[in-house]
Amino acid sequence: MKVTFDPERCTGHGRCYALAPDVFAPDDFGHCEVVVSEPTDAAHVAQARLGVDNCPERALAIDE
Ligand code: SF4
Repeated sequence: MKVTFDPERCTGHGRCYALAPDVFAPDDFGHCEVVVSEPTDAAHVAQARLGVDNCPERALAIDE
């Protein structure tokens, strides 16, 4: 699994890092940074899916 992020789409309201703080984090402007881009353990995989599923701007995606 690989988490991809499109910074052009991110508006920085922070749902990803609020819901999945072990995989996503805010940068200095409140936009997303992907901390774990290739999660392998179950907890990180679950958080990655939660963050991606809850991004209203579709800035995040998963390549399986
Ligand atoms: S939920 Fe989406 S739009 Fe919001 S900060 Fe995260 S990546 Fe950006």
